[in-house]
Order: sequence, then C-alpha cells, then structure tokens
Amino acid sequence: MRMSKLFVQTLREFPADAEVISHKLLVRAGYIRKLTNGVYNFLPLMWRVLKKVENIVREEMDAAGAQELLMPFVQPSELWQESGRWDVYGKELMRLKDRHGREMCLGPTHEEVITSIAREGIRSYKQLPVNLYQIQSKFRDEIRPRFGLLRGREFIMKDAYSFDVDEEGLDKSYEIMAKAYRNIFERCGLETKMVQSDSGAIGGSVSHEFMVLVNEESENNAGENDVFYCTKCGYSANSNHAVSILNEVETDGKFSKAEIIDTPNTHSIEELAAFLNIPSTVICKALIYVIDGKYVLALIRGDRTVEETKLMNVFAGNDIRIARNDEIEEIMNASGFNAVAGFIGPKGLKNIEIVADETVKDLKNFVIGCNQNDKHLVGANWGIDVELPQRIADIRLVEENDKCVDCGAQLKVTKGIEVGNIFKLGTKYSKAMNATFTDRDGKEKPFIMGCYGIGISRTAAAAVERHHDEYGIKWPLAIAPYMVIVVPVSDQDETQMKVAEEIYNKLLAANVEVLIDDRSERAGVKLKDADLIGIPYRITVGKTIKDNLVEFKTRANNSVEAITPDEAIARILSL
Ligand code: ATP
Ligand code: MG
Repeated sequence: MRMSKLFVQTLREFPADAEVISHKLLVRAGYIRKLTNGVYNFLPLMWRVLKKVENIVREEMDAAGAQELLMPFVQPSELWQESGRWDVYGKELMRLKDRHGREMCLGPTHEEVITSIAREGIRSYKQLPVNLYQIQSKFRDEIRPRFGLLRGREFIMKDAYSFDVDEEGLDKSYEIMAKAYRNIFERCGLETKMVQSDSGAIGGSVSHEFMVLVNEESENNAGENDVFYCTKCGYSANSNHAVSILNEVETDGKFSKAEIIDTPNTHSIEELAAFLNIPSTVICKALIYVIDGKYVLALIRGDRTVEETKLMNVFAGNDIRIARNDEIEEIMNASGFNAVAGFIGPKGLKNIEIVADETVKDLKNFVIGCNQNDKHLVGANWGIDVELPQRIADIRLVEENDKCVDCGAQLKVTKGIEVGNIFKLGTKYSKAMNATFTDRDGKEKPFIMGCYGIGISRTAAAAVERHHDEYGIKWPLAIAPYMVIVVPVSDQDETQMKVAEEIYNKLLAANVEVLIDDRSERAGVKLKDADLIGIPYRITVGKTIKDNLVEFKTRANNSVEAITPDEAIARILSL
C-alpha cells in the first residue's frame, strides 16, 4: 500500500478528551475516530489490526473444536423475560421498541439467544458437547464509557458458549477454553495472568479473567482492575474475589468498662482513633449500603475496607451503592434515632439487614457507634453490650501484605486490564429457559453451560498500552496493520525512489504486508509518522544508498542497522 493513497490522517497533538495512552495514540495515529460518546469508527489501519486479532481468535477457537456462527445484534425482550434478566439487567442494556411497540434490545451478550438455539437444536446427549462462538459488535450503555476502545459502548467481542451433559464435561470444556485463551493472547504478543474472579451471585460457580498487567505508576493507569497475587505460589485474584489471611493486630481496646462517651466531630475512623488515642483496629466501623433497593448495615474492623461486590453477593444482589445522607436519616428516624454517618451502630436499628465481616468477631473492649451524634460506646463486648450479628461473612477488600490463603506468603497488588474471561454458568440459563436434552438414561436434563468472552477491540487497545514509547505505537508483529514500511528520505532523489520502489515491489511480490511512504513530505514527517503508526520494521533509503546501504529499523527496540537492500529484504522474509 502507498502512503499517498492510504486513508490515514495523523494528528500533531493528542486528542483533548483522551486520558490513557492507547486512546491518545490510536486517535493521533489515525486508527480510530470518535463518532459519539463511547462509539468509534475503526479506520482502515485499525480494521486491519482488529481483523488480525479476530483471525488469531478464530484459528485458536476452531482448533479447540468450537464452531463459529453469527447471531442477530438485535434481540427480542421475550427471551430476556424468560431468563429473568429483562428486569435485573441495569441501564447498560439498551432497550428499544420496534414499529409495533414490541420491546427489543441491542445485544450486550448472547446467553439468551444461544440458549434458545440449543433448546431447539440439541435433543440428545449424543449431540454433546458442543461449543458455539461468534465475533460481533456488542452494545452496552456503559455508565462511564472512557479510555477509548478499552471501555466503549459499542465494541467487538468474541463470545463462546459451551453445552455439556454434566459438570465433568463442563470442567473439560472450561479447561480447553483456558488453554485456547493462553494461546490467543500469547500469539497477540500479550502476556496475561489468569486470575480468579467474581462470578456473581450464582453459588458455586467458577470464573477466571485474563488480565494484561499494567504496573506503570501513572495517574492515568488504564488498568481498571486490582489484581492481588501471591509472591510465592500461583494464587491470583481480582480484588472483587480475592481472599487473604490477615496479619495479627491489636484487637483488644483495653477499655475497662462499657460506657457511652463524648467523641465530638469524629466522623471518620481516623478522627475517632486520633481523638481516643487508640489504633483503628479496635474500632468497629458501621456502614449503610443500598443493595437492590434494600438497606444493609455492614460492620467491619476500623482498619479495613468493605469490598462491595463481596458484600452484594452475600445478598445475591445485582446492584450496590453506599446510602445517601437522606436515606440514613430515613433509617434513623424509623428507629427513633437521629445519628449521622460516623456515629452509626447496629444496636436498636430497625428494618435493616446486618452483616459483619469476619474481622469484627474477635474484637474485645472495642469502640462502636451508638446512634447518637458525637458519641461512641467504648469498652463494648459482643453478647454483653451489643449483639454479634448472625450473618458473618468475608466482605473485606484484601490489602497488600495480607497473607496468601494457599501458602501464607505475602500478597501484592497490581493493576490489570481484563481482556477476556471464562465462566462456568452451570444451569442458570438452561433451567430458567427450559433448555433440556435427553440424557443416556432417558431423562430430560438441563444443559450444563459455560461462557467465554474476549474483547477484540479491548485486546488491541491493551496491546498499545503495553507496547509503545514516547514516539508512538510498537505493534507486536502478529497484530500489526503492516509488517514493514519502506521510506525514501527524499522523493526528489531518483536513486532513492528507484531503490525504495524496488524493495517495495519485491516485498509485495513475496506477499509481505508492506507500505511505501511515497508522499512528498519532509523526511522528518515521514519518519515520525512511521514511528507513530508503529509499523514493526522500517527500511529507510537515504544518502547511504550510494554505498548500497539502507537503514533497517526494528521498532520494538528502536535498533538501527546499515545493511544492503538485498539483506533488508532477506531479513524481512526470514521474519
Ligand atoms: P468489565 O468488567 O470490564 O466491564 P465484563 O465483565 O462486563 O467486563 P464480559 O461481559 O464478560 O465482561 O465481556 C467479555 C469481554 O468483553 C471482557 O473480558 C472485555 O474484554 C470485553 N468488554 C466488556 N465490556 C467492554 C467495553 N465496554 N468495551 C470494550 N470491551 C469490553
Ligand atoms: Mg462490564
């Protein structure tokens, strides 16, 4: 392809609305253009990259025995009513009505559609196992679309669904997918970590996420997930699922008697600890949440933080947020109190579910709110001054330097971009939608399902997050839009142009994906663009051509060598 013809417009500056480097570089290098919030045009260079990622995914999915199909992008609400998700899937689901007033949605994912396909198409255990996948645009009306392709509203996903006769079969299908995923990301030039993750409220389910780790100490770290990992064994998990063994801390408050004392203006744990001159580890913190519209009081040791997904899962919820001040007021009024946040405690509260983190049960002579402003109960003990809640669970966020549950070594934390996930669904959809097959014993049984997603467009953007420098993108070879760019330094120099054209034509003839920068631009502009666009190899034909030498640049490490045109061609062909 000739640069003079290639549809690409590189920009001098980064776009003003971009926060993370992949977004900045993909816009500036002419790969994507925003159409509207969270919706992007994939311009020709980007489309080449996406097709490469797709093809790697396709090859590995096919090799793993999965079969590709394509389901409709628009889905009828009836299927979602059947699965029960029409009412619980939040505002991310883009709902619309057709001309007859029938409710539809833009597909954010396809469990319902695929289950309906299996329900009609699979009658007998003899047809199982089967794994069906598609590569398609998805739409989710994300609350905070940002980071360019990393969190768009419209994005490309590969979604696969496996159907098995039993749990054992599912385990096998899951393993096969995990292996295919490792191959896929490795081939895309991306190192990933497979981490345990939250699988929602469905008890007993298992899921893993494939994370691209982005450790850079940058304000605009694109890693939206915290990944905890063990420094010794293989344990690693998303913060929404991670568990740990806590280090020993002081949990006895040493207050000799239980009494309510004045603690003016101590709204936070820090203020309270400072006022009483005690460690925060002898304070029982109380926080009010709203889970699916219901109030929940969560108790946790003062030095620890509530992990909202874990808390939500205790109540099999779909939606969680911290209560607003007016809601706290309402709860207080209903129980005959008027305390504000900071002075709340479980004693005497009505119409509220209470859950305590495991960290509170060993507290002794501790400090806790008593629903009176500017006061706390000190020297409290469970069972004597306050009832220990019946519901005790692990609802805390793991912290760095907690101990690994598997081996006891220290845990560390890093940021990660989730590029894919695999999920044991079990019978969640098949039961709800009455999708069954006849098993060997003649009985009708629901399919045992798994689902497996990869963000195609997010994977490409994650590759840019991992592979770039101050000059631009450094595409991994396997997903680069072109392999090599030939740059004649001066389009006025006949010899340079002639040699450049020769190299270009020889590479073309050998089926190499090659660009030639035949534009009448200054050398600086052409060389800068080549770096910005991130083509893995550059062959520059300049003045040294009189000695039969060209410059061969490897973008990955920015190394340059002077070699002959024939050597340059041979080098490319050998790569
Ligand atoms: P996230 O937690 O990042 O929102 P998810 O758990 O909703 O992801 P899935 O529904 O399982 O993800 O989708 C499968 C894959 O699709 C994800 O692993 C991710 O790579 C990609 N993906 C999900 N949401 C988006 C988005 N808004 N923009 C781009 N890619 C996305
Ligand atoms: Mg999501």
